[in-house]
Amino acid sequence: MTISNILSNAPIDPQKLQRATRIITALQEELKKYIAQGSGPFLAAIYDEQGTCISKTANSVISGGCSHNHAEMNAIKQAEEKLKTFDLAPHRLSLYVTAEPCLMCLGGIMWSGIQTVYYGLPSKRVEEITGFDEGFKPNWLSEFHKRGISVYGNIAPQIGEEVLAMYVKNGHTIYKPAR
Ligand SMILES: [Zn+2]
Repeated sequence: MTISNILSNAPIDPQKLQRATRIITALQEELKKYIAQGSGPFLAAIYDEQGTCISKTANSVISGGCSHNHAEMNAIKQAEEKLKTFDLAPHRLSLYVTAEPCLMCLGGIMWSGIQTVYYGLPSKRVEEITGFDEGFKPNWLSEFHKRGISVYGNIAPQIGEEVLAMYVKNGHTIYKPAR
């Protein structure tokens, strides 16, 4: 864990960052299994402040036949269904995800009431490795800061790169609209 490499819009608590590094590293390891079962190459989990996992879902764009089924969107939906609410804010939840959220997921996170976001590999590297278009996201860290959402990124990026490179090397589908 190197604090100086972390991309953030809030003060860094070394203990929380250490926990996030453990969780994201574990998600990356687990993601390999999900990919082998046909999932897209991203995994997200939502935890409460006590460290209880509320939801955990992989990207299911291909298996679910829906372009919105990104890991973050799936995890938010599952958490809201479980907690029976459209507003997660009172539950003070953190989202952990193996890569930086795309344009759509930033909107989904903003609308959900998620309080903190921890992500693994930055979008630039995701795009370079996979060819996915993660979208335009001007000043998203400061826009999230304005809305009270803390963000910590570039957590354990090496393993994130390995998993995505493996996804591409093994010939899995790069799902995107044909333009
Ligand atoms: Zn997304």
